[in-house]
Amino acid sequence: MGITINTLGALYDTKERLFGCCRDPSCYHSAQIDLEPLIARYGRGHGCMHRHLAHKLRCTACGGTNCGIQLLPARTPRM
Ligand SMILES: [Zn+2]
Repeated sequence: MGITINTLGALYDTKERLFGCCRDPSCYHSAQIDLEPLIARYGRGHGCMHRHLAHKLRCTACGGTNCGIQLLPARTPRM
């Protein structure tokens, strides 16, 4: 089992990618979120779990704030 990644700094170090996804049914926009600006703003110790970040996000497509986050491994396993 992997290490629990629960801070922005840990996430950055593992090279996992953070995606935000809009939950508005008429939008469903998703985009990769740059970690560096987040770390600059909130610090490496800030939590990277959904409850820490989702409410800080705003959809760049529709402006909605009903956003979720998703982590993708740096290397996606083959199916
Ligand atoms: Zn949206």
